[in-house]
Amino acid sequence: MSGHEVDAFIVTSSANRYYLSGFSGSAGTVVIGHGEALLFVDFRYTEQACEQAPDFEVILYRDELWTAVANRLSAAGYKKVGFESKQVTFASHVEMQKKIAASLVPIADLPEKQRAVKDKREIDRLKRGAGELDGAYEYILGYTRPGMTEKDVALELETYLRRRGAEKAAFPYIVASGLRGAMPHGVASDKLISEGELVTIDFGALYNRYATDMTRTFALGSTSRKQRQVYDLVNEARLKAAEGIKPGMTGREADALARSHLEKAGYGDYFGHGLGHGVGLETHELPLLSPRSEAVLEEGMIVTIEPGVYIPGWGGVRLEDMALITSNGLELLTESPLGLIII
Ligand code: ZN
Ligand code: ZN
Repeated sequence: MSGHEVDAFIVTSSANRYYLSGFSGSAGTVVIGHGEALLFVDFRYTEQACEQAPDFEVILYRDELWTAVANRLSAAGYKKVGFESKQVTFASHVEMQKKIAASLVPIADLPEKQRAVKDKREIDRLKRGAGELDGAYEYILGYTRPGMTEKDVALELETYLRRRGAEKAAFPYIVASGLRGAMPHGVASDKLISEGELVTIDFGALYNRYATDMTRTFALGSTSRKQRQVYDLVNEARLKAAEGIKPGMTGREADALARSHLEKAGYGDYFGHGLGHGVGLETHELPLLSPRSEAVLEEGMIVTIEPGVYIPGWGGVRLEDMALITSNGLELLTESPLGLIII
């Protein structure tokens, strides 16, 4: 905050609100000022807020949020107040400007940058969640048969994870079989899965509010030479990244470890997304591992490593693991087999 020269910072997004205060309700506004931490809630949440955010002064507002916030900000004499420029809607900003006398300063990624480095409690939660994905993958390999739809597989996977204690799916699951494998974000469809196809599944769930994210590609019945070649290439690119990533590197350098391997083999144009992303309270968070990311990787960050090759009119392969950046490299949190499995 001092770097942005603001007297206070307003937080409205749910992930940042929870991260800073511990309050898990679906509505509430955090204001961090000089030596004070405020949490504005309506009557539905007063009790919960007091219980979950003992370090905050909980303020119940009865009529209108921004009037209550504005009164408190002027009472403290704050002149410049930051807000989350990527989270606040245009309509909210108009309201804030009407009510708040201080000048409003747009700030991006302030708590998000702190969230990128996980503490021990967060690492424990993410490790536990990631471990559940391995069991789910093993289960779904035993379940999947030719003739099922991609949606059948997605539903079964989500049900399995929720029965085992997940709060909910972290995102709509990707089950992309055959030609649909060429779509990196091919959400499960009504397409029937057939013999001889590669199937890419990308899934994850929330455990204690923390997201998990993993991808595997497997084959049904038999494989062609090209399917095996592309699979091995992606797996090698993954290994280059897993072995080469160290703290102190930038997201761009990490991405290049895998990308250069695919480029050398002539498949660079088929890897159109970044190598990975942070995972935590949100499935996609900082840091980014991509050709444009200058973020410096630090010990305690949890990221995905997910190279892929997507060939239009043919299909695709992606392998994604969650990993903790340690003092000397990476510790994988998902441990499902990485060789090509044929079921
Ligand atoms: Zn994923
Ligand atoms: Zn991912």
